[in-house]
Amino acid sequence: MESVDEKAKWSFLLRGLRKHFPASHPVDVRRCCIKECFGVVRFHDDKFYVRICNTMLSFYQRDALVHEWAHVIADDWMGEDEGKHHSKAWGIAYATIYSSWLADFKEKTK
Ligand SMILES: [Zn+2]
Repeated sequence: MESVDEKAKWSFLLRGLRKHFPASHPVDVRRCCIKECFGVVRFHDDKFYVRICNTMLSFYQRDALVHEWAHVIADDWMGEDEGKHHSKAWGIAYATIYSSWLADFKEKTK
């Protein structure tokens, strides 16, 4: 069972992502059991679906959310062209989001 503190940290991160790194389409984020994967992004019906594995420790769930959100805003998610996955654009987005998150989203580094 996740502690109140960990729940608050998840909410803070998700709010920060939505506010400071808005996506081109609505993003549905849920934590659930994913087999052999930390997180995943899918896009269909004009919406992003981010799923984070909830069997990991809370910190790793937040880390995975940052990873997946970078896919969303870099427009680099596992779609038809898998070769595009983890592109340079994704890496830049990931680093940008990560450093902003570490600064509690107080300074936008984008
Ligand atoms: Zn990835």
